[in-house]
Amino acid sequence: METRKKYHRLLIITIAIILLSPLGYFASGIGQRAAGLTAEPVEISAGVWENSPKAEALHALTLPLRIEKLIVYPALLLLLQFSGWAVRWRTRIEAGVFRVTRRRNRWTGALAAALFIGWVTVVITLIYLPFSGYGFILRRQFGLSTQSVGAWARDFGINWGIGLITNLALYGGFFGLVNLSPRRWHLLAGAGFMAFAFGYILLEPIVITPLFYTVTPVTDPDLRGRITAMADRAGITIDDIVVIDASRKTSAVNAYFTGIGGASKIVLWDTLLKKHPPDEVDVVIAHEMGHWVHKHVLWYILGGGSVLWLGLFALRRWLNRVWRQMGWRSPGDVAAYPYLLGVLALVSALTLPIANGVSRAAENQADDFALAISQKPEAAAQMFERFAVENVSLMTVPAWEKYIFYTHPPLGERVRKAENFSF
Ligand SMILES: [Zn+2]
Repeated sequence: METRKKYHRLLIITIAIILLSPLGYFASGIGQRAAGLTAEPVEISAGVWENSPKAEALHALTLPLRIEKLIVYPALLLLLQFSGWAVRWRTRIEAGVFRVTRRRNRWTGALAAALFIGWVTVVITLIYLPFSGYGFILRRQFGLSTQSVGAWARDFGINWGIGLITNLALYGGFFGLVNLSPRRWHLLAGAGFMAFAFGYILLEPIVITPLFYTVTPVTDPDLRGRITAMADRAGITIDDIVVIDASRKTSAVNAYFTGIGGASKIVLWDTLLKKHPPDEVDVVIAHEMGHWVHKHVLWYILGGGSVLWLGLFALRRWLNRVWRQMGWRSPGDVAAYPYLLGVLALVSALTLPIANGVSRAAENQADDFALAISQKPEAAAQMFERFAVENVSLMTVPAWEKYIFYTHPPLGERVRKAENFSF
């Protein structure tokens, strides 16, 4: 009982930190001074860069934010379990559902489980609301967001709804499986996750992207011609390249590759087409073709799915061992949801350097491909430099930070690679 009280106190402190820390970041005044800073990096000598003051200022805020979230978020979730809150919420919600429906069976139990998952989602969202709001303020201060508060709130709400539906489907399905098949759920859950991931990747461009952007196919005959020429050189057929109106929300520049097989797509932000000369756009498209040719999305799902499957074997052993001392009614008790999220967040935090290492390797491969196919190393170097200005990014970062947090090679490295490219 005493330890539970201690965890309770720790939980309150953790929630207070999450609620109040954005105030601290804001009060530092760094963001308020951002508008007056230059975002231009300086090349001191060949291949050696000095970061822009603006990017350094943004970094001075985002690095502690990232580290805080990495540590405090799993702590919050685990403390919801150890303080006894999770089990108490589950008990109350269930009692409420049974009282209102006057039935106690599989269906009312499932309804109570869904409500519990929804409730936990709501609580976490509210605790992190100042954090999310501050993220928007930060992007406004650094000129990265062009959205109004109303437009941001709308996007936030849609995102939240998608997250809620995803959580209900994934975790509702998970706990349902554990209860229906206590011996084999780990095998089924792995297969279910793979199916979900493939479904999501295929549906995302069709269902989710249009909720946030207007999607239009590339019609400019000149651009289409250049894309076809590069695709011929790469020996692939690419028929789906679309533009989204990102400029409505941001001044940042991006492009990405999504989908699998015949349902693949290259998505360009209109900011890219507006701000960059054709040669640089070609390099970006060639980079995305690199992801396409090397089947990075497919490998990502297959690799991630295999790791998850192994993890599920371990999780089954672990749940079977600890469920009694956790105060759950069975290994499939939905009260385990916050704990499960916490363990997942902790594992992701600890394996972040590996996941990001894999991602950087894939990005390097796509950059190599882009240089070989586009044959425009000068445009590539120029473009990465421009990215630093437009996205307020650092050219160089300390090695430890790159290994932990960077999904892409730092821009300085990408410039150097382009400059060292030989035909
Ligand atoms: Zn990429």
